[in-house]
Order: sequence, then structure tokens, then C-alpha cells
Amino acid sequence: MTATHSSRMLILGSGPAGLTAAIYAARAGMAPIVVQGIQPGGQLTITTDVENYPGFADVIQGPWLMEQMQKQAEHVGARMEWDHISEVDLSQRPFRMKGDSGALYLGDTLVVATGAQARWLNLPSEEHLKGRGVSACATCDGFFYRGRKVIVIGGGNTAVEEALYMTNHSHDVTLIHRRDSLRAEKILQERLFAHPNIRVMWNREVAQFVGGGEPEGLVAVDLRDTTTGAIERFDTEGAFVAIGHSPATELFRGHLDLDGDGYIKVEQGTTRTSVPGVFACGDVMDKIYRQAVTAAGTGCMAALDAEKFLAEADFEATPQPALQHA
Ligand code: FAD
Ligand code: NAP
Repeated sequence: MTATHSSRMLILGSGPAGLTAAIYAARAGMAPIVVQGIQPGGQLTITTDVENYPGFADVIQGPWLMEQMQKQAEHVGARMEWDHISEVDLSQRPFRMKGDSGALYLGDTLVVATGAQARWLNLPSEEHLKGRGVSACATCDGFFYRGRKVIVIGGGNTAVEEALYMTNHSHDVTLIHRRDSLRAEKILQERLFAHPNIRVMWNREVAQFVGGGEPEGLVAVDLRDTTTGAIERFDTEGAFVAIGHSPATELFRGHLDLDGDGYIKVEQGTTRTSVPGVFACGDVMDKIYRQAVTAAGTGCMAALDAEKFLAEADFEATPQPALQHA
């Protein structure tokens, strides 16, 4: 039989936004259900050092921080479901969602905190060599490139952090960037430029990834000079694409208003979306700040907005369960 899970507040996503919404909603007695998705803990689980989340004088690890947030949410009464939502129906109340597990999720309110996913260059050769030398996560796959010559593509915080991280495994790291300046924070740039095992190739983009050997793996990249158009071959055995993230909103196309870049539109100063009772928080609605602390901040806002919405609702909501924590 298919499981059905009902809640006054359904939260999609278990990154800093979803888990903060869960903490606030649980403390308000809404017994939220968090559908965690295929990346429980979200993007911070694929990084190492986090130095800018307030409250920690020492450097903390991304996966550890997310574990703590989940524990805190569970401790105050949020329920985690390990599932990925693949269908939504926001045209009726309660909102209905179907998970890959086959389970049905019903929510009087919905908090969308599905975050963002790594972007790819979308080259046919990239697709062909994914997992065989081409990766979008140095923290996850860097270990496999011990002692090898690697490149990192991009010029933002992620690219610089990935390049620095790769020096734990490789003495030969090259950052490839399409312009002649980075957009990464100055402190990260200073660390990058000071590192003896990292060099930067400016004004270059990858024209194609080149495979070779048996079994086939990455052996080189063809780099295009963005100022002259000239192509040169550059030997490398590992390439990490770190060119940013796109909001995970495909599921909501046609259901919620999205902006031109695919981010969920919210009413200014709130987390209210185009459908009353549906709220969005974190990277899925924020294309400017995209930080763990801002995701957590808007997660808090979403829970408070949803609570207010239910208090004023003119429909019969799922009964409020007894508080489960002391
Ligand atoms: P995410 O963390 O992206 O979480 C999204 C969640 O939604 C995931 O749990 C996923 O499983 C779930 N999900 C997606 N689709 C579905 C679905 N259909 N059904 C159910 N669940 C779904 N920020 C900082 O402040 N400091 C840092 O040091 C820092 N380092 C970073 C390092 C890296 C490598 C990266 C990639 C990002 C870093 N960031 C950092 C940015 C920060 O991680 C994000 O801003 C933050 O994680 C966004 O939180 P979120 O909750 O909005 O989304
Ligand atoms: P980002 O800031 O959007 O940077 C993406 C980089 O990739 C840019 O340098 C961009 O070049 C380049 N790029 C984009 N498309 C490209 C393409 N098709 N080909 C080649 N290069 C391409 O993304 P991000 O670095 O992943 O960071 C995302 C957010 O997470 C940011 O808000 C960031 O601050 C945050 N974050 C924070 C930390 C931290 O606080 N320590 C760490 C990681 C991420 P251009 O510069 O030319 O546009």
C-alpha cells in the first residue's frame, strides 16, 4: 500500500533553508515533515571548511554543520523523510506531492527549499567523460586524482575553494578562467595566488575535453583563448567544473512563477510565492547572496510566513498535533 504523509507544513529540501524552516515550524507546534531529497544536508555536505557561518570561532566542516542542523530540527519535533519529490499539484488544498518512493505527501502549506545544483558546460565531450576524469565536485572526487595534474574551471568562490582543496591531493593545479579577473572573495584570491602549487590561466575556456587510454579517461582539454579564439591543447587527468549553480526549480515550472533565470519569484520582503500557502527560501529564490546564513535566514522567514498564513486560513487545516518535545 502507498504511504501517505500529511502535515500542516511540508518542507522540500534539507539544506540550511529547509532545516531552519523545520526548526522554527516544529517549535511553533506545526510538526513539519522535511522531504530531504537526494542530497540530505544540501550543498554544504560537498564542501569541507566553513569559515563564515556565525557562531564558530574555529573552522567547522560543512557536513558536520548540516548534521547539527538536522539533529536540532529532529530534537524539536521535525520529521525527516528520505525521498525525492517528482510530481506536484498545487491546484488543490492540501497541496499534493508524489515521491520517487511512491509515497504521497499532503501539506496545508508548502515550503520550497530545493536549493541549487551544479552547472555544467554542456559540451558533448563533458557528458562523455563525466565520472572518468570530469567532475563537478572536488571535495567528493578529489581523492581519486592523488598525484595527478588537474584543472579547475571557473572564477567564483567555489572554483577557488576547489583549487585550494585539490592541493591536498595534487602538486599541479591549474585554475582556468574565461576572464582576466576573479569574482571570488579577496581573502580566497589571496590564498590562491600565494599557493605555490596553483597557477591561473586567464582568458581561457574549455572548447572540449579529450579522452584517451584504456579504459578511457580524460587526458587533455582543448582550451580556447577568449581574446584571440586560438585553441591550444593542455594535458590534464582531472577536470573540475565549478562554474556556479542553477536553482532546482524544474519541478515547479508551470506551477509557480519563476524569473528569467528560473528562480522562484517571491513578494518583496517575504517568502510568499505566486500560490498562496506556498513559500520559497534559500538558493531556490535568491540569486544574489546564496550563502548558508542567508538560506537559513529566509528559511526562518518562510516558517513564520507559513505559520501566519495558517493562522489566518479560511480552510480546515490538518489538526495541530500535541508538542513532542519538552
Ligand atoms: P541546498 O543546500 O542546495 O539544499 C537543497 C536541498 O533540497 C537538498 O537537501 C536537496 O536534496 C533538496 N531537494 C532538491 N530537489 C528536491 C526534490 N525534488 N525533492 C526533495 N528535496 C529536494 N555558503 C556559505 O555561507 N559558506 C560556505 O563556506 C559555502 N561553501 C560552499 C561550498 C560549495 C562547494 C558550494 C557548492 C556552496 C557553498 N556555499 C557556502 C553556499 C551554500 O552551500 C548554499 O548557499 C546553501 O547550501 C543553500 O542552502 P539551501 O538550503 O537553499 O539549498
Ligand atoms: P558564481 O559566483 O556564480 O561563479 C561562477 C563562476 O563560473 C564565474 O567566475 C563565472 O565566470 C564562471 N562561469 C559561469 N559560466 C561559465 C561558463 N559557461 N564557462 C566558463 N566559466 C563560467 O558561482 P560559485 O562560485 O559556485 O558561487 C555560488 C554562490 O555560493 C556565491 O554566492 C558564492 O558566494 C557562494 N559560495 C560561497 C562560498 C564561501 O563563502 N566560502 C564558497 C562557495 C560558494 P564570470 O566571472 O566571467 O561570470
